[in-house]
Amino acid sequence: MDSSDAVLAGLDSELGWLRETYTELHRHPELSLEEHETSKLVEEKLTDFGYSVTRIGGTGVVGILQNGEGPAVLARADMDALPVTEATGLSYASAVDGVMHACGHDLHVSALLGAAKLLADSRGAWSGTYIAVFQPAEEIGAGSKAMVDDGLVTKVPRPDVALAQHVMPMPAGTVATTDGPVLSAGDSLKITVYGKGAHGSMPHMSVDPVVLASSIVLRLQTIISRETKPGDFAVVTVGALNTGTKSNIIPDRATLLLNIRTYDNQVRTAVLAAIERIVRGECAAAGAPREPDFEYYDQFPLTSNDAAVTKQVRTGFSAHFGPDAVSRATPQTASEDFSRIPDAFGVPYTFWLLGGVDPETYQTAVANGTVSRDIPGNHSPFFAPVIDPTLSMGVQTHVVAALSYLAHKD
Ligand code: ZN
Ligand code: ZN
Repeated sequence: MDSSDAVLAGLDSELGWLRETYTELHRHPELSLEEHETSKLVEEKLTDFGYSVTRIGGTGVVGILQNGEGPAVLARADMDALPVTEATGLSYASAVDGVMHACGHDLHVSALLGAAKLLADSRGAWSGTYIAVFQPAEEIGAGSKAMVDDGLVTKVPRPDVALAQHVMPMPAGTVATTDGPVLSAGDSLKITVYGKGAHGSMPHMSVDPVVLASSIVLRLQTIISRETKPGDFAVVTVGALNTGTKSNIIPDRATLLLNIRTYDNQVRTAVLAAIERIVRGECAAAGAPREPDFEYYDQFPLTSNDAAVTKQVRTGFSAHFGPDAVSRATPQTASEDFSRIPDAFGVPYTFWLLGGVDPETYQTAVANGTVSRDIPGNHSPFFAPVIDPTLSMGVQTHVVAALSYLAHKD
């Protein structure tokens, strides 16, 4: 029996409270930075398990289990829900109007609690330090930053490696990993451009921000088509363009909201520079009376998995789950703020994807070519991971990944 078998031997008897915890969290979702009840629940459980528990970054909770000599492993789960009205019809559907765990963070919390419990109960099987981080406000890219700003690096032992997972619309019972970029860097940008207002009948008295903003939207399209190297990944989306109130008034300003995704920091820097250059250039061409304003918000760092860590964890997954359950992850265009935590410590990390869809439903959708129509993705009001075996898998992935680093005892 190897260490992960010894630690996981108790899993079946933990599934009862784990299911209860998951459905309880699902029923009572809390928005970003408001995870008060969730963090209280996490604190209570970790304390019961024998962890030393610290609050970091408001609603952030860290449990530390020091178990002799050996490496330190940090594992992170995010806790926040989304402003989505649940439409799943599940018996444990959200009881909070307009708020839903539509991204599976309730599953991440439950799975990490399960791993924390199993590791605490089998201290004879391993040695080292296990650090369970429960992070607020992933959805707005603010939680890992709040924890780092609140002194995470000084309050917690330095880990050798950091781990995290995300439930995704893939078959339950499977896990996907990749080295290199797995999630994109994400930036939101509010641009305000200034014109000169006038009567709609007197365009010659104006600097028209409607025309200026339109021209900016079109010119921004050339960043991907003409400036970014073919094969380099980048997305530039203008998600909102707001200006004006009335047909016969030329307004004096326009605002644009942009979303930018990249897999490479150099590409990101070049894309952001190109956006600012084009906007300034168009403003100058229009004769704008004032320089434009740029306000960055909801920023997510790149998640790029360390090759050696990923290989070690994937080897552990393949040995435990069998090679068929472990696939190569395709990089996602979604973003995450997890990497700020290992980056603050200066340690390598890996972030893997966990399947949450009933395998038969998934295979039928694949056979019919209707995956995108029939399988609700993250943030959908229909998003509903199947509890079995997703929850048990999520506990096992954390245990197996941690034990691929923690020292083993016979
Ligand atoms: Zn999300
Ligand atoms: Zn998420």
